[in-house]
Amino acid sequence: MIGRHRKKKFEPAPVLSVVLAGVFAGAVAVAPLDGGSADGGSADSKETPSTKAVAERVDRSAAKRDEGPPRKAPDDCDPSKSTARYANGRIPVDQLCKLPQDGEYLRADAAVAFYKLNAAYHDRFGKEMCVRSSYRGYNKQKQLYQSMPAGMAARPGNSKHGIGIAVDLCDGVQRESSPQFKWLEDNSRKYGWMHPRWAYSSPYEPWHWEFDVGQA
Ligand SMILES: [Zn+2]
Repeated sequence: MIGRHRKKKFEPAPVLSVVLAGVFAGAVAVAPLDGGSADGGSADSKETPSTKAVAERVDRSAAKRDEGPPRKAPDDCDPSKSTARYANGRIPVDQLCKLPQDGEYLRADAAVAFYKLNAAYHDRFGKEMCVRSSYRGYNKQKQLYQSMPAGMAARPGNSKHGIGIAVDLCDGVQRESSPQFKWLEDNSRKYGWMHPRWAYSSPYEPWHWEFDVGQA
């Protein structure tokens, strides 16, 4: 009896191999169908667009999930519109371009470049740049000059903020050792922005970045 039981225990093996054989047979049976339809190449050409379409749909939905900020300035932001006739700090805001950051404005050429930099920054850090200050009118410059320690703010009428080509950044950039500062240092010029040499030391302003108009 024991022997018989033991023997029974081994019985599933042949059954399994029959099942497996069936699976393999199925696989073999399916294979010629795939191979057969490939001979004329029509199956390939039919399949490729549909696979591509699916991939595109996936890409689109992924892009939608993480669209990020706009890479382009608004259409009414026109760099050919010069603000040169306005004195420092006297540019009407409607002559400037709105940045993606609420309440922040720059001269059109600087803004167009800023949108690209901001989008690249978002690609790297998953968030937009933090802007504490951008265009600064004359009165605001005066107020800052009077309230800041000597040398810490430009004399009113001399600030790059007053011509709409400078931003003061936050969220890490204000520390020279931060990954954000390092990334900007390595990449900002590709997008037309730079950290002026003076801002490394006198006064030390890691947060202050300018649109690159060829200054040192
Ligand atoms: Zn500044």
